[in-house]
Parts: sequence; structure tokens; C-alpha cells
Amino acid sequence: MRYVLVTGGVISGVGKGIIASSTGLLLKTLGLRVSCIKIDPYVSVDAGLMAPAEHGECFVLTSGGEVDLDLGNYERYLGVRLTSEHNITTGKVYLNVIQKERRGDYLGKTVQIVPHVTDSIKDWIKRVSLIPVDGSGEEPDVCIIELGGTIGDIESMPFIEALTQLRHEAGAGNFMNIHVSYVPTVHGEQKTKPTQHAVKSIRSHGLIPDVVACRCETPLAEPTLAKLALHCQVETSQVIVVRDMPTIYQVPLLLSEQKLIPQLRSKLALDKVTISPAMSVHGTELWELWKSVVTPTYQEELKIALVGKYITCQDAYLSVVKALEHSAMKIRRKLNLMWIDSEDLEPTTKGGAAQAKYHKAWHEVSTASGIIVPGGFGHRGTEGMMRVSKWARENEIPFLGVCLGFQVAAIQFARDLCGMSEATSEEFDAQAKDRVVVYMPELDRHNLGGTMRLGLRKTIFQQDSEWSRARSLYGGAEVIEERHRHRYEINPELVGQLEKAGLHFVGKDETGERMEIFELKDHPFFVGTQFHAEYQSQVLNPSRPYLGFIAASAGCLDEVLKQHPVQAFKAHHIPNGTAQ
Ligand code: GLN
Repeated sequence: MRYVLVTGGVISGVGKGIIASSTGLLLKTLGLRVSCIKIDPYVSVDAGLMAPAEHGECFVLTSGGEVDLDLGNYERYLGVRLTSEHNITTGKVYLNVIQKERRGDYLGKTVQIVPHVTDSIKDWIKRVSLIPVDGSGEEPDVCIIELGGTIGDIESMPFIEALTQLRHEAGAGNFMNIHVSYVPTVHGEQKTKPTQHAVKSIRSHGLIPDVVACRCETPLAEPTLAKLALHCQVETSQVIVVRDMPTIYQVPLLLSEQKLIPQLRSKLALDKVTISPAMSVHGTELWELWKSVVTPTYQEELKIALVGKYITCQDAYLSVVKALEHSAMKIRRKLNLMWIDSEDLEPTTKGGAAQAKYHKAWHEVSTASGIIVPGGFGHRGTEGMMRVSKWARENEIPFLGVCLGFQVAAIQFARDLCGMSEATSEEFDAQAKDRVVVYMPELDRHNLGGTMRLGLRKTIFQQDSEWSRARSLYGGAEVIEERHRHRYEINPELVGQLEKAGLHFVGKDETGERMEIFELKDHPFFVGTQFHAEYQSQVLNPSRPYLGFIAASAGCLDEVLKQHPVQAFKAHHIPNGTAQ
């Protein structure tokens, strides 16, 4: 196995994940099978219980694993399907070591960070990197390992030690380190000192960067590059400048322009890997397609209002935004996303500033060509979501409700059209009379970690749903599979009443008891999904409900539907395996 380790220095959050995913994409264009592992040095076992407003989105895998949002980047860029084991955390490693110790597996030895924890990390990486992830059943050729945080953090020490050992064990030609650093501009001057220190620091821990990727706002001047190379003890060719780009999807082009591929080839001895002609052709096609999709030649804007409760942390909606971007790229429109706090849409008796916010928020809503209400938890802000769904319904504005957005739109519909003025969700009021949304009976009410209805589940389009645009977007398929993450569902006892009033549940689960998709017939696009279709959206293969929503907002849904999306989109097809 060949490993590319991506580490960070100076500060986190400057795009290490994008550089790692983009490197993976470049390797894929060479015809290689690429996997990836994200290491998060925090003690939480997984991302499932982390507050979205603080930590960003929890990404949900096919298996139902709740993982760090960076795994979403990998799936979107590389068209792979990962498992929760591809996300290693300190919590997971310690849990594993402690369980072994309790079982007596260490035969009376004193259990220590070195070698027991470090061995556990290495074994984990070696085992998981071999798992086939591209649908072909074949082992990957290269595994990208992204180490979260920055070098020097207390939490990441055992991982760095383990990775240093892994580097040694893998040997020359099988291990490469890309160290991502930041070059700030202060008073117009590009400052290299933080990067010099970051490289010194990683070297002192036993890792030697093969490439220093410098994030910066503007291209680095020649003397700055030379200075960096000198102080970091690398050639200038090993310093890659990752300046801000119009879109992150162009980062692979930027890396390629700066000759990262020849460096990957030599450091990983890629000439020794046997690549089948089919994989090689696939790689070349992928590259051509990528270049054509991510180089925009269009200017026409599309204004979309994203109405949510976590908008102070935009990462809370990362996959949603990506799915909107993928769809906008597909129909060649420039996405102009307006972030609207759903609480601001609720009438207020408070004074000046709150009133101003209220009016501003509604002004923005009224100028949007489409409105999306994504997922979330808890009561706060849901009245505002309901109001905006009513606005979209009554004013024929394309609307997409996702999970919580699906639930609140159904509640609002029941209030207005089923005579249930007090309709609500059990999540907001457990004692309420008209509970349009209820707790799912089979779920554990006591433990919160990993106990939701999670992961890939089937939706069956109902027999009388031929008219459904949601169904047409899926190419008329009868059965589709999307990922879920919820505790509540539409109350099965009230479905008849809702349907009679015109809220058609065109997609249900296999039992017919659980509602998955609703749609209005006499509306340009009013669709809600209990599932999170955004988790499966890919750069070159946008999620269908999102594509439909964006196309309807741009006024070109009929055109998109005529293209029979399933055929029109070239999925990340992997030779010798199933299409993704
Ligand atoms: N809070 C709702 C539920 O648990 C919606 C969840 C979500 O939007 N992911 O069912």
C-alpha cells in the first residue's frame, strides 16, 4: 500500500481537506484506485453527538456511520463509498485498546501509548486502507491519510508517532507527506515565518514533508518561494502555492499546473503500479470531464435562500451547499446563496434591531428564486421555517424541504389545509394534540449516540406517482436508496388526511408506513424528503432532488427532465465493478 499523508501547520481550517481530496483526484486521473482515511484527534468516538452549530455537519455514510464532514469531501471528489472505520478518532482508538486490555489480550503487559496505542493506530490504518471503496471489489492502490488539527497539538501526538513509524515501515516509494501551511499577507507583505516554523515542527516530530502546500490569498512572489524552499530544506518545485480560487473545484487544476503529478509519480514510485488500460482510460475521461465542469463560462446568477437554524456556522450545512453547487454547475448557473436564520422570520415584539432583522430576512426571502429548508434538531426556529414553507407554497416558489424541512413543511400544510391549527411535532411538544410528526417507535429513547434511523434505506415510489417530478428526476425508477438521519417521522395515522388535502407522499419505505417524499401536484416544485439526498451528491453527479430544485428555481426543470438525468449523467463508473 502506498500512503499520502496530509498534515497541517500554522492554523487549521485553511483547506487541508480540499488539498487532500484534490490530490486523491489527481491520483485517480492516473487510473489508480484511491482510498482515504481521516484522522480526528478529538476524544469523541464519532461526530454523531457534536453540535452542528459548533463543529459543522455530521456526515452520514451508507452504513449509517456518523463521521467528520471531511469524509464527505472525499466521497464527493473521488466517487468512493467509505465506512465509519475510515474515520479514526482518539476515542475510537482508546476504546479499542481499553477493550483489548479488559479482555486480557495484552497478557499482563503494562498498556502504554507506545507501543500499544501507536500499534493500534498503525494496524487500523493498514487494515482499513485495503478495504475496496470504489464498488469494484478491488483493493485500493493508494490511501490518502488526512491528519486533522495542526502538528504540535497535544491530542495528535500519538498519531504523529504512529505515522512516523508507518513511514518507516512502508519504506521509500510507498509514503509521501504533503504538509499544508499558511502564508499570511501582513501590510501587503507575504510572511513565510509561520511556515518555516511549521516545517521545523513537523521535522522535529520525525516526519519529513515531501511537498509544502502553501495556502495564501494571492500567488506567492518568486523571492518568497525561494525563501520558503531554503528555510524548509526543499526544492522550489516542492513548494506548491494554493492560492484562493474562484471555486474549490479548481484546486485539482491548480495542483496539476504546479506539477504535483510528477512528484506523486516519483515519491510513490507509481511507475511500478500496474494500471489496467480500462482504468487508465477511465482516469483520462474523468479528468476531461472534471475540467469541463469546473471551469465556468457562465455568469447568470441564481438566488437561493437557505433557511436554517445553524446559519452562524455555515459548515453545519456543508453537504447541502455542495449539492446545491453541484446542481448549479450542472445547469451552468452561478449560485448566489442567501443565508437566512429561520428565527429572523418569526414575528417579534422586540425593538429596533430585531424588527430590522425580521424585515431584512423577509425581503431576502421575497427576492429568492428558490427556498431550501435543510435538516436540524429541536424547536428553536421551526416556526420561521414553517412560515417560509407557506410563502413558497402559496407564491409558487420552488421549495425543497430536507428532513426537518420536510417535517415542518408537512406540519404547516396540516395547519393550513387540514384544519389542524395547532399541528406540531412530538419533538417540539410531546403532549400536543395534533402531532403530525411523531417519534419512531423502534428507536432507543435513552442513549443518544448512534441510535437514530441512520444510513442508506430504500424509498419506493408509489404506484400512482408517474406524474411525480421527484420520480422523473430519478429516471422514473421505482426504488431508490438515500441516506437518513432522524428520530421522528410523519405520523402514519394522519397520512390519509394530508394526502386528501393534496400533500402527496409519492415515496414511502418498504412497509408503506414511513413517509419518505412528499410533493405537490399543482406547484412548480414543492418537494420534501425525509432523507438527506445531499450526502450522495457528487461533483460530476449531482443529487437528483437538489438538481430538480435548482433547475425549477432557474426555470429549466422541464429541460432537465427531458434529458433523462440517469442517462445524461456520467456517473463515476468504475471499470470491473458496479457504477456508483
Ligand atoms: N429532528 C428531526 C428528527 O430527528 C429531523 C432530523 C434532521 O433534520 N436530520 O427526526
